[in-house]
Amino acid sequence: MKRVRILGKKQAGIETLAVPQAHANWVLIKVHAAPMCTEYKSFAAGADAPIIGHEAAGEVVAVAQPGRVNIGDRVVAMPMNACGRCRHCLDGEYIHCQDGLDFAEYHGGDAGWGTMGQYLLKQDWMLLPIPAGMSYEHASMACCGLGPTFGAMQRLGVDRHDTLLITGLGPVGLGGVINGMYRGTRVIGVDANPYRARLALTLGATAVINPLDKNALAQVLALTERGRGVDKAIDCSGVVAAHRLCIDAARRRGAVAFVGECGEETPLFISDDMIRKGLTLAGSWHFNLADSPRMMTMIGEVGAQLDQLITHRFGLGDIQQAWETQLTGECGKVILQPWEGAHG
Ligand SMILES: [Zn+2]
Ligand SMILES: [Zn+2]
Repeated sequence: MKRVRILGKKQAGIETLAVPQAHANWVLIKVHAAPMCTEYKSFAAGADAPIIGHEAAGEVVAVAQPGRVNIGDRVVAMPMNACGRCRHCLDGEYIHCQDGLDFAEYHGGDAGWGTMGQYLLKQDWMLLPIPAGMSYEHASMACCGLGPTFGAMQRLGVDRHDTLLITGLGPVGLGGVINGMYRGTRVIGVDANPYRARLALTLGATAVINPLDKNALAQVLALTERGRGVDKAIDCSGVVAAHRLCIDAARRRGAVAFVGECGEETPLFISDDMIRKGLTLAGSWHFNLADSPRMMTMIGEVGAQLDQLITHRFGLGDIQQAWETQLTGECGKVILQPWEGAHG
């Protein structure tokens, strides 16, 4: 099998290794669509890792024992390797599992760990069946395209009565616009990138504010009832200033979810932000497994918007160009097709 590898700073390549074996409840999946996420940051930094990619949709091609899937089933693979037994796993919140096994140790190698390759190994219970007639590409948006913001909206109870602020309109935030529109919510976006602002408006956002404007907060507030603030906010940028914008733009008794990862400290004032405002703050990573039927139903109904969200497709052989495209920011969701142009 072939898979992507980072060879150096802004240098991508392909390596060939043996196809891994199905084992116990781990099934072998032929990957047809591997949506690209934040791996481009490792590409830019030249940080090599054997595990590249965590989003995929494909076809089950080998099973080791009778289980939840059969050969030929079309599935979406959920991220991470969870234990399936702890309180979080049993609760559908497997993404927070602390007992996941060491893939390389268990399988005796790392082939099939990352999704940006031709084959993937996954436990059968972490696979969502793809409904008949739904493409691999659309189904794969159940990963980070739609998943994190779907989970955040379930957590905050976002509905048609809400005005929702989404900061950061990269692929995750743009997916959030689709999730928001599906719920009948009024969405205000925040992003400085004109390409992404345009795409958010196309997907149905009411307005997109440039966070570099000095009065960005005032602009957001002016779009809310009596200027009192948005009902809910979701940060998908992982930028400290955007965290503050979400907190400051939320109305009293509002709620904010943080989806974008961030390595820096965000100032938070317990009295003014939390107690007097009555604000609810939540960290949200992915969606609850019990919501997967809802997710697949929604995907079946928003296909036209997903075709706008997915702006680029690259074969495995064009991985260099794919990552360079992501670095420009002039894209929505980018999909890697591991069986196209893979002769490198
Ligand atoms: Zn677990
Ligand atoms: Zn992702």
